[in-house]
Amino acid sequence: MSVNQQAHTGPPYGQPQPGYQGYQQPAYGGQPLPAVPQSQYGAYNGPMPGYQQPVPPQGYFPSLGFPSKGSPVSLNSDTSLAPNFIGSLRAPPTSGAPPPASGASLPSGHLAYSQFGHGDVQNGIPASAAPMQRPPASQPFLPGSAPTPVSQTSTFQQYGHPPASVQQLSNHMAGMTIGSTTASAPPPAGLGYGPPTSVPPVSGSFSATGSGLYTPYTASQGPPPTSVSQGLPLAQPPFPGQPISTQRLPTQVPGFAPPPSSTGIGLSSYPPTTGAPRPPTMPGPPLPGQTLAGPPASQPNHVSSPPPPPSTMAGPHPGPPMSGLHGPPPPTHPPQPGYQMQQNGSFGQVRGPQPNYGGAYPGTPNYGSQPGPPPPPKRLDPDSIPSPQLNELPPQQKPRHRIDPDAIPSPIQVIEDDRSNRGSEPFVTGVRGQVPPLVTTNFLVKDQGNASPRYIRCTSYNIPCTSDMAKQSQVPLAAVIKPLATLPPEETLPYLVDHGESGPVRCNRCKAYMCPFMQFIEGGRRFQCCFCSCVTEVPPHYFQHLDHTGKRVDFYDRPELSLGSYEFLATVDYCKNNKFPTPPAFIFMIDVSYNAMKSGLVRLICEELKSLLDYLPREGNMEESAIRVGFVTYNKVLHFYNVKSSLAQPQMMVVSDVADMFVPLLDGFLVNVNESRTVIASLLDQIPEMFADTRETETVFAPVIQAGLEALKAAECAGKLFIFHTSLPIAEAPGKLKNRDDKKLINTDKEKTLFQPQTSFYNNLAKDCVAQGCCVDLFLFPNQYLDVATLGVVTYQTGGSIYKYAYFQLETDQDRFLNDLRRDVQKEVGFDAVMRVRTSTGIRATDFFGAFYMSNTTDVEMAGLDCDKTITVEFKHDDKLSEDSGALLQCALLYTSCAGQRRLRIHNLSLNCCTQLADLYRNCETDTLINYLAKYAYRGVLSSPVKTVRDALINQCAQILACYRKNCASPSSAGQLILPECMKLLPVYLNCVLKSDVLQPGPEVTTDDRAYIRQLVTSMDVAETNVFFYPRLLPLTKADVDSDSLPAAIRNSEERLSKGDIYLLENGLNIFVWVGVNVQQGLIQNLFGVSSFSQISNALSTLPVLENPFSKKVRSIIDMLQVQRSRYMKLIIVKQEDKLEMLFKHFLVEDKSLSGGASYVDFLCHMHKEIRQLLS
Ligand SMILES: [Zn+2]
Repeated sequence: MSVNQQAHTGPPYGQPQPGYQGYQQPAYGGQPLPAVPQSQYGAYNGPMPGYQQPVPPQGYFPSLGFPSKGSPVSLNSDTSLAPNFIGSLRAPPTSGAPPPASGASLPSGHLAYSQFGHGDVQNGIPASAAPMQRPPASQPFLPGSAPTPVSQTSTFQQYGHPPASVQQLSNHMAGMTIGSTTASAPPPAGLGYGPPTSVPPVSGSFSATGSGLYTPYTASQGPPPTSVSQGLPLAQPPFPGQPISTQRLPTQVPGFAPPPSSTGIGLSSYPPTTGAPRPPTMPGPPLPGQTLAGPPASQPNHVSSPPPPPSTMAGPHPGPPMSGLHGPPPPTHPPQPGYQMQQNGSFGQVRGPQPNYGGAYPGTPNYGSQPGPPPPPKRLDPDSIPSPQLNELPPQQKPRHRIDPDAIPSPIQVIEDDRSNRGSEPFVTGVRGQVPPLVTTNFLVKDQGNASPRYIRCTSYNIPCTSDMAKQSQVPLAAVIKPLATLPPEETLPYLVDHGESGPVRCNRCKAYMCPFMQFIEGGRRFQCCFCSCVTEVPPHYFQHLDHTGKRVDFYDRPELSLGSYEFLATVDYCKNNKFPTPPAFIFMIDVSYNAMKSGLVRLICEELKSLLDYLPREGNMEESAIRVGFVTYNKVLHFYNVKSSLAQPQMMVVSDVADMFVPLLDGFLVNVNESRTVIASLLDQIPEMFADTRETETVFAPVIQAGLEALKAAECAGKLFIFHTSLPIAEAPGKLKNRDDKKLINTDKEKTLFQPQTSFYNNLAKDCVAQGCCVDLFLFPNQYLDVATLGVVTYQTGGSIYKYAYFQLETDQDRFLNDLRRDVQKEVGFDAVMRVRTSTGIRATDFFGAFYMSNTTDVEMAGLDCDKTITVEFKHDDKLSEDSGALLQCALLYTSCAGQRRLRIHNLSLNCCTQLADLYRNCETDTLINYLAKYAYRGVLSSPVKTVRDALINQCAQILACYRKNCASPSSAGQLILPECMKLLPVYLNCVLKSDVLQPGPEVTTDDRAYIRQLVTSMDVAETNVFFYPRLLPLTKADVDSDSLPAAIRNSEERLSKGDIYLLENGLNIFVWVGVNVQQGLIQNLFGVSSFSQISNALSTLPVLENPFSKKVRSIIDMLQVQRSRYMKLIIVKQEDKLEMLFKHFLVEDKSLSGGASYVDFLCHMHKEIRQLLS
């Protein structure tokens, strides 16, 4: 979807809008957009009396289905509740002292309160004289006494005791070296792993050109590495010249002490059967002059002799690494108190699943620090899987290749180490540029002036000062932002600050909001902006004296001066039309065509809604939700329902003229649940009966969205549509689609069309929806292709969520669907949202990834933004940065809460800046980098062949690592692969992205699956992409049934599996339970309640509830995992050697994949080769 490349047709939201009045304007800002039928339904654009006339427009006729009786009674529509909630939410307690000068009169219009925009006008000057619709009183903020959020999901548990001390962590970089070992002729390898018998690995990602691919760099390349960058030897390499050791057991690194020595892993040792020197056909280095971001560097065939290094690399540093800052300093600096260094042992641990992984995930039920609420999707449909074939699990003991998988960086080890080192202390955000613990570590956050990593994570916390340096390193500078992230109960929600009628204090020039980095000068009368340096007068009501350090004396009393994240209550100037919003509405739109009825889906939805409607999101301590609800059913025509509380029975109105959608009723369509409870219950009882005998198989789709949109327009509110849809919309109507699925396009230049919408109709519709604040959540139940790429457009661009349940069956899928639905309906969501990221001079946000719409280059617009949605923002230099001042980000999100309150949520983050590349490489976060790279690549498939995208990714990462090697690592032989400590997992994770279904689909992956995954990943946070690309694999039989902990995870490779054990693998979408053929009968009995392996049914969608410790333990682990994820995962039972095993193996991402993806070992060798070419 080219959201990010949308033509900008509308002016930025937030400008004074003449055009705002009336909802007839298709877009904010008053410029009518082209292609939008203007006022077609004029009569329905406002709550007009005429609406209730029973005279139906064409195509409308009262239905026979419902007795319509009762005279229309106007509903008590609960609009404009907003004012009542002020301060009752998370507003700081009002005890005592009113805020400084809250009543002070506003200096007449000297401030332009514009939310966005640099410069003058924007939101215009706040009319201080304008009558406010809400209580103007500002609330004093009392630190520490903020009310606790009510609606937190309690997914976090077990945080360590937060010590109060501030710890500064310096992330430390260790070089990893993988040296070459010479290898003698490789023994024929076993199938399945690594290099197939004497043939070099041929994987799709690489241009395999013959056996020479992985030729040894060995002998001819000089002595194998003994050195270790940084003096941190990781594993003992073979001695130079020593001819091989096939099975080197790396020295074990005890504990977390610095590993012994660098590993000499002969990357080159690949079985060059022929032992021949590099064949000329080897993929060459990038063409000279080619720049980094460019196309794949590795085109086979050019190169026999290494061309000069790409220009960008050529820069500063030919020659051997200078000493000084290059070799990453050995751990000279002692670990800071409390934390240990993190360089341990990825290399060099003893083989075997879990020997020293520091103990079981000690009570960390919350892997993944972002709690996930529950809805689930699915990834592959097992039903569509071709028959078995392929494999027997390779035996445990296979001939080993020369590269010991235990000697290359292990994700499990890195995760464990971070947990041990950083999981026990809270992460205090008071220090600039601190790298937070990994997303897989459970930690508590204390906001002391920077936003929590739950809200913002960066690819690097130390940014190069210059653009040249940034280009040289090729490390993308990006932030992954989750503005409404759910926090664990132990952490404090952002305080709500109310400055009364004057609104938040902002910089006059860049409009940045008051934050801890603003500098007060002249005795507190003015402040200098930390973003643009402009000096602004402090409004009289905000004046405060400074203490001897220059700090305002009310520093700790004001969240916006002392915290990284907080909220401001927005004034009317921040509202559309200069009118406070009314509470949002939810509209449930149910497909009642044949398939939906037959599967029992409609009945299931209706039953569920009866109770679910009592759990609509509500704010703070409100007794009931302010959200109104409405109902529509449809097949080829639409049915609207009047559920006004005064009716004895609901009334149906049918609109069959779908070409010209309108809403046939206003009064009684959107209602308060409590008031209309009986009528709604009656409706939900009747719907399944009413369509029970339908024979209608065709559906429409776009008109459904249009209907929801029109209803929200008429009600003058934002809201969300929940659409439950089953098939490709082929009925005659706008947005009608045809089946254009064609798997033959895979791997051709036309493959990209599979990801593009087949018509631009939906893009235009999305634009209208965004303008209205109409967010679309889509629940799909396809039995065949339904073109997710097209149907998902509106969902995607409005910030909505999409869920897919292929071949939906009540028995097996209802739990998953209902869990998803419940969570989706209940989760925290903001409407009509606009986000802008401001940065200090020197860098600026240049690119955005996520589910949203952009009508200009800076404002990210989302009709809805929920607590799970993430926006990834890329930054580029536009000037120099300085080490002294660092770099600042301020993310401002303007949104309407579920009670209709307009608010601004502000997140600030300060980063360090560096003039030495080593500092950059020491402060990167690989998980975030992968999040960015995956999103970048997934967008790339819309416009480029998939292979090009993969090659570009490989090239960029090779450049990143080559730059490190060249500039930061200590001198060492070219045969060594040296990885920066904090990027040592980059190769393995990158390989997972390259092998993912979007970039390299297996035969069983459908076009819809790929479009679906692409869309999901685009909104994922770092924890989600981490487990999605490198799933978590747990040996269930190793679980301690007496503790709450999870068994220690193991690496995702088949050779780690034992036939006598049972394993669980989860990736955020699916949970697999794999059962080995030799599992003891007793365990099988305990877990599945059957007496033998052969009796285990793989049709189970849940484990039987059995009263024994093992069963309870496994079920509790599964429950724990479900709670952590934002979607309810599908449980799939896989028996070893059964046909479903192929699906399971797809997730053993360290192995070679059936679709041609490289094994980790092979890929590491490939990366090494790429790096060498760049360096040569
Ligand atoms: Zn400024």
